[in-house]
Amino acid sequence: MSNIRFQALEAVLTRTIPEVKIPSPKISDFFAANVFDKKKMKEYLSAEAYQGIINSIEDGEPIPRDLAEQVASAMRSWAMGKGATHYTHWFQPLTGSTAEKHDAFFEPTPDGSAIERFSGDALAQQEPDASSFPSGGIRNTFEARGYTAWDPSSPAFIMARTLCIPTVFVSYTGEALDYKVPLLKALSALDNAAVDVCHYFDKSIEKVNASLGIEQEYFLVDIALFNARPDLYLTGRTLFGHMSAKNQQLEDHYFGSIPERVYAFMQDMETEALLLGIPLKTRHNEVAPSQFECAPIYEEINLAIDHNQLLMDLMDRVARRHNFKVLLHEKPYAGINGSGKHNNWSMITDTGKNLLSPGKTPKNNLMFLTFFVNTIRAVYEHADLLRASIASVNNDHRLGANEAPPAIISIFLGSQLSDVLDEIETSRISKKIKEDPLLWQGIPKIPQILKDNTDRNRTSPFAFTGNKFELRAVGSSANSASPMTILNLIVADQLKKFKYDVDKLIKKGEKKDVALLIVIKKYIKESKNIRFEGNGYSEEWEIEAQSRGLANIKTSPKALDALLSDKTELLFEETGVFTKREAHARHEILLDSFYKKLQIEARVIGELGMNIIIPAAIAYQSKLVESAKGLKDLGLNADTYKAQLDIINKIAGHINFIKSNIEEMVDARKKANTIEDIREKAIDYDEKVKPFFQSIRYHADKLEQLVDDSLWPLPKFRELLFIK
Ligand code: ADP
Ligand code: MG
Repeated sequence: MSNIRFQALEAVLTRTIPEVKIPSPKISDFFAANVFDKKKMKEYLSAEAYQGIINSIEDGEPIPRDLAEQVASAMRSWAMGKGATHYTHWFQPLTGSTAEKHDAFFEPTPDGSAIERFSGDALAQQEPDASSFPSGGIRNTFEARGYTAWDPSSPAFIMARTLCIPTVFVSYTGEALDYKVPLLKALSALDNAAVDVCHYFDKSIEKVNASLGIEQEYFLVDIALFNARPDLYLTGRTLFGHMSAKNQQLEDHYFGSIPERVYAFMQDMETEALLLGIPLKTRHNEVAPSQFECAPIYEEINLAIDHNQLLMDLMDRVARRHNFKVLLHEKPYAGINGSGKHNNWSMITDTGKNLLSPGKTPKNNLMFLTFFVNTIRAVYEHADLLRASIASVNNDHRLGANEAPPAIISIFLGSQLSDVLDEIETSRISKKIKEDPLLWQGIPKIPQILKDNTDRNRTSPFAFTGNKFELRAVGSSANSASPMTILNLIVADQLKKFKYDVDKLIKKGEKKDVALLIVIKKYIKESKNIRFEGNGYSEEWEIEAQSRGLANIKTSPKALDALLSDKTELLFEETGVFTKREAHARHEILLDSFYKKLQIEARVIGELGMNIIIPAAIAYQSKLVESAKGLKDLGLNADTYKAQLDIINKIAGHINFIKSNIEEMVDARKKANTIEDIREKAIDYDEKVKPFFQSIRYHADKLEQLVDDSLWPLPKFRELLFIK
């Protein structure tokens, strides 16, 4: 009987490519067809109700009950017209994925028949059984149940015949149990602080929205091969596997054409995404074999994040139709690139101005510099918190290793803007600014077109790319709300401080523009240490960063300390984005998931090692024993079975090592499990249990190289990585 690996390989060879139907080559014909957006609201609601809902979307006004009733009924008729039978509140609990609990529209009537109903109450609020979502002790201590509440700023949509209503998830005592609540608070803090600062330049600005474009990297693998790798389907990454002879060294995948099977998947996935209003725009191969990327056009942040969460779910669903599995893990394969999720971020006013876009006039550039320098200073001040916001057991494989953006948070500006800041820092500020508009000596000339691909620095975790900052250190499976809450929050806080500093100077009699420049100059000087234009992967940078006093925390349990530092506590308190209890709860949840994931990986390694890898090696070893014995029985001399003996010995050595190390790992795990303090426990798992993964794997991978290919049961890297 052929082993599971060969059955999987056979299945791969018989794949046919499903036909992909695109509703129309004109995307505008079907874009957002499955979204209850403003256009549909207008169509399905009375003028009055429509205006009411728009007000609440734009100004966050609460929705009166009778309006909710009208909207619910309109949503239901629209959704049923599109074939939906159920509805669900769709939310983002701290588990990292999205959650849903479906209810049917139909309700039985007393006469034994049924009607279709969807009430305003059901739209506005629901009570999923929250007891199984992580709450970091909040619920245990206070026995608060959670409820979901409609977030009208993100439109409802239909997926799998279900009307999905984006919601927030909070406990009855008011604590946030999800990613969305703190994000919305941070965005509102940013809006307020940024508008105040905008008024130095333009009184007509009433709102500032943060915008976000998320580039999503992922791997594809055939579903049969995936199912033949218990490590992949249990942990999302391969825990064993010798590197393929060919991997990414020729860099030919990045520039190569997209394989036909993958292309069909992408078209299908894009169509579904576009129907859901996700503005997917680009697709391409990534550096590693079988690694790809897609990116939508940027949107208002809350929507961009909902769309990214939805997209990850959608990719998985569509992949099944194509017999693929999407790997969103940050490091599915050791030895080749991992995956990230670049967060392109900027701030845009209701007058349409991108605050991170340099302008034509000196005045515009002073405005640009204000937001630019404040962002730099915010990241400088709270680099540790930003680092904490992207910490996860998966992302440690990238940030800790010298391949993805490093764990040191630094900012890349490009030489042109670096020069501009250096110039401001060293030049004298002319106090004659107001009298003579030509005398803007404080502001050097800023080239309008900064975007230059040759000036890219791929090794920087936070890079300025023309008219936006790009946070590159976010993990591919992460919810971007976590780092985006922090980024918007720290910039909001920074802008408030900026306004305070500028106003103080103005009160002292400085002219406004002079005051602005003085503070900008001061901030440039203060935050200089975080700017770095060189190679972020290099050892020299680690040494230099240390001498600059920049943190370099490679592992999550320690990086997460920043969530509870005094400085962070003050920040959270002043902005009101997290209560102390919420911060502690999040800290606990993150540590809990950190060690549990390592615990699962350790168990999988133990099982695969003992039940799959060692038995395969012994099977081959027995064949060699038989062969050697046979040759000996024929009366041949020992030289004729020297190779057999040699391999038998080598196999024995690796088997013994694997077995004894698995036993030691189990002991280490048992010890770690007795630790009460969650931080200590996570650190113990990280430092005492995790190191065994590497050593056990080393010997298992050696066995993979020794054992007869036809007896090896786990699909090999070369089979997983090169799509047929
Ligand atoms: P790259 O600069 O990485 O080559 P793009 O210019 O295509 O790629 O941008 C990557 C992502 O950044 C896209 O999602 C794009 O919509 C987004 N983006 C572009 N401008 C902005 C902006 N002002 N704010 C936020 N995201 C933006
Ligand atoms: Mg990019």
